[in-house]
Amino acid sequence: MLLELVVSWILKGKAPGRLDDALTSISAGILSRLPSLFSRSIELTTYIYIWENYRLIILPWDSPWTWYLTFLGVDFGYYWFHRMAHEVNIMWAGHQTHHSSEDYNLSTALRQSVFQIYTSWIFYSPLALFIPPSVYAVHLQFNLLYQFWIHTEIINNLGPLELILNTPSHHRVHHGRNRYCIDKNYAGVLIIWDRIFGTFEAENEKVVYGLTHPINTFEPFMVQCHHLVYIWTTFWATPGFFNKFSVLFKGPGWSPGKPRLGLSEEIPEVTGKEVPFSSSVSHLLRIYAVVQFALMLAFYEETFADKAALSQVTLLLRVCFIILTLTSIGFLLDQRPKAAVLETFRCLVFLMLCRFGHLKPFTPSLSFAFEIFYSICIAFWGVRSIKQLASGPWK
Ligand SMILES: [Zn+2]
Ligand SMILES: [Zn+2]
Repeated sequence: MLLELVVSWILKGKAPGRLDDALTSISAGILSRLPSLFSRSIELTTYIYIWENYRLIILPWDSPWTWYLTFLGVDFGYYWFHRMAHEVNIMWAGHQTHHSSEDYNLSTALRQSVFQIYTSWIFYSPLALFIPPSVYAVHLQFNLLYQFWIHTEIINNLGPLELILNTPSHHRVHHGRNRYCIDKNYAGVLIIWDRIFGTFEAENEKVVYGLTHPINTFEPFMVQCHHLVYIWTTFWATPGFFNKFSVLFKGPGWSPGKPRLGLSEEIPEVTGKEVPFSSSVSHLLRIYAVVQFALMLAFYEETFADKAALSQVTLLLRVCFIILTLTSIGFLLDQRPKAAVLETFRCLVFLMLCRFGHLKPFTPSLSFAFEIFYSICIAFWGVRSIKQLASGPWK
């Protein structure tokens, strides 16, 4: 991501994205990983269960042919998972998180859903009938890792590789909200699946990124859950059992009387002059948000590194603190009326967690510096909260 920043400055004279958007993307990435502190990967546990109980044959784990077959199998499974994640409303409720960024850079790759993993495993499970879990586990990671680097605008066109591989250009189309981009280029590693199944589209006119109806928020819970809320209200507002069923399992654009995937003419036309949703907080507040984010990131890394040694209570409290921090930063960037109150509360929670030994400020010698720093934060945000509560909405 740093390399992308430098190269973008050299080639284009500007950053590859915006701070508020990138922080929100990394927030989503962090949230999506938190469940793994408490439970093992559902993609692996379900796979191993099927392998141990229902496998038909055992392909040799050390044969190159098993390796090639797994590569193709995982990528094929990903194509269908990804396609269904766009075509089935309840699956889209998870996957839409990844598409909610209005920028396109390497941080966008990290904007992941908390819920997606609970449906993606289904599409890989047939492989468990013949491919050993160890080989599958490696390829699942390779497939995911490959998809990181394609989230960039600084790589233009890769010539003949564009025929076979999923490239930055192809995936830019996938992230577009222009009509020609909708429901196109679902590939993970190989673009051949889109070419075979008729969902391929080459990049031509300028791509405008994000959801067709932008969410206009940096608050992590809305980024993760807003479409679930939408489905909930639509589900109860739609009459008839079969229609309710269709709300869940047909496309996000479906409503009674329309084709399964909705009507393409209902997708808002893109003019190229769309202004992405931005935070208008001051530079000082941005620096503050980055510092708090960086501190939280250090605690997050430490929590993952030490998870085996930490008690369940400490683990749970740390996770709550991480979620609270991400929410509070989202509130600050969104300039919500309750942002100052929430940030005062968060800084207080930090001090309490340190006092009771659930958070360590890196080295014991730093604990005094941390206490001073957070006390200043509490004083600052406390005064601001009182002023805000007295004067009404955010000024
Ligand atoms: Zn997608
Ligand atoms: Zn993507």
